[in-house]
Amino acid sequence: MNSDLQPCAACHEDCGSIEYEGKSFVYIECGNCGAHTAFFGFNSEKERLEAEGKALSLWNRGKIVSHNPGE
Ligand SMILES: [Zn+2]
Repeated sequence: MNSDLQPCAACHEDCGSIEYEGKSFVYIECGNCGAHTAFFGFNSEKERLEAEGKALSLWNRGKIVSHNPGE
């Protein structure tokens, strides 16, 4: 299911996974360093797939939020 995910842009480990916040938000998070994409909201199955695609696109372009403080 996660074959479309590139390695994490922050730690370069292949630990990205699709995560859900309740039943209305989806994002990609690194299981190794905790870096994650922005959250994308959805209200239906169709929107959920679109939101997943947006999160995947961000992740694969390295548009992530790192938990590392400072830089
Ligand atoms: Zn990482």
